[in-house]
Amino acid sequence: MRPIYKPFLFLLAVAAWAQSPTRVDAIWSARWVVTMDAQRRVIENGAVAVAGDHIVEVGPRSDIDRRYTTLQHLERPDAILAPGLINTHTHAGMSLFRGVADDMNLQDWLQKFIFPAEAKNVDREFVRWGTRLALLEMALSGTTTFTDMYYFEDTVAEVTKQAGLRGMLGETVIGFPAPDYKTPQASLAATEQFFKQYADDPLIVPAVAPHAIYTVPNDVLKAARALANRYKKPLVIHLSETKTENDEALAKRKMTPTAALESLGILTGWTVAAHGVWLNDADMAILKRRDTGLAHNPSSNMKLASGVAPVGKILGLGIAMGLGTDGVAGSNNDHNMMEEMDLAAKLQKVSTGDPRALPAAQAFEMATITGARALHMDQLIGSLEKNKRADMITISLAEAHAVPLYNVYSQLVYALKGSDVTDVMVNGRPIVRDRRMLTLDARPILLKAAEYQERVKKSLGMK
Ligand SMILES: [Zn+2]
Repeated sequence: MRPIYKPFLFLLAVAAWAQSPTRVDAIWSARWVVTMDAQRRVIENGAVAVAGDHIVEVGPRSDIDRRYTTLQHLERPDAILAPGLINTHTHAGMSLFRGVADDMNLQDWLQKFIFPAEAKNVDREFVRWGTRLALLEMALSGTTTFTDMYYFEDTVAEVTKQAGLRGMLGETVIGFPAPDYKTPQASLAATEQFFKQYADDPLIVPAVAPHAIYTVPNDVLKAARALANRYKKPLVIHLSETKTENDEALAKRKMTPTAALESLGILTGWTVAAHGVWLNDADMAILKRRDTGLAHNPSSNMKLASGVAPVGKILGLGIAMGLGTDGVAGSNNDHNMMEEMDLAAKLQKVSTGDPRALPAAQAFEMATITGARALHMDQLIGSLEKNKRADMITISLAEAHAVPLYNVYSQLVYALKGSDVTDVMVNGRPIVRDRRMLTLDARPILLKAAEYQERVKKSLGMK
């Protein structure tokens, strides 16, 4: 008896162990889990198990509860659990200029207000507080990843890590003395340091950001591309935002901005281009061939009357186009991705005269998985799937405007608000809980914003 008894007990123990739930760091469950995986699964009464920085499993709550156990179970029976939103174009550090000059055209706005206001006000501390303000707003409205273009981007990186968001952060290179560096060469040298500093960071992807074809000389554009390729990092740039930009390029270079970038070899590598409002078919073919990611900014394009990007055509060609808010200093004026989804869908409908254009599910894709593709980061983020980074949000369905719910995508795009976002996790770390940011203290940020407002007004001679 004895020789058989022992192995039998051992087998019993193994069987029990195999069936006992695995301990994970967190389980979030909700009424609806919108996965954005390849099958676009929407799981009623679903849950997501998280270990460390990544997702272990996504499925019906009953399955997850049977297989996993945790001390951190967030239960939201009256909410949607979705991938974190991806803002593919913004200028976080400019937030302290929110509303400083509205209702004018882009060239006047830049030349008469923004460039002078920046020259007089923007320093490292301005960018630090502006970025804190932006990240507070972004996180509280469901953004987990953002692509930035501004100055002192190493400080933006510091604040982003502290706040716990994910950032593709582009140090701006421009053809005149900038607030941080006096020459484009100095900006490029600093960008190289920035690349080294964040060579392999879990949250930060450092980037080089030549502002646009009309503000950066050719040799600097080429040097920026070479630098990005040497370090295998992205180049981010504004592209065909306004008709003026296109007309100028055609007059001076006899080429569209996209064709000009292509002829200079600027698109030969990881690239994210913002706007793409005035692209023609040949431009789109180039961007498709180069696998350039695009950022569509409906609020900004409408507010500055830049035009309407041919989003349906771009997406139809298989070019990855995400959504962005652009900066809040005159071109939006907020960082609310829930609003961008809604406006993106409606702008395509009204401009094409076809209510079927850009349906809700596709608009939500732009804010999540397609945005991730535009950033070339879809292996890591953009959907709730096993082994992807745990970047996710819950959105409350408890308000009057959230019921009844017939279609989750319609609700997400047309009815729910940024202020319905209740909880946010990035890289496995909860950064918002019950609409309170856990990683940044809101009070001093709001006080600083008021302080800077007085300073900016004085510097521009405003009453
Ligand atoms: Zn921009």
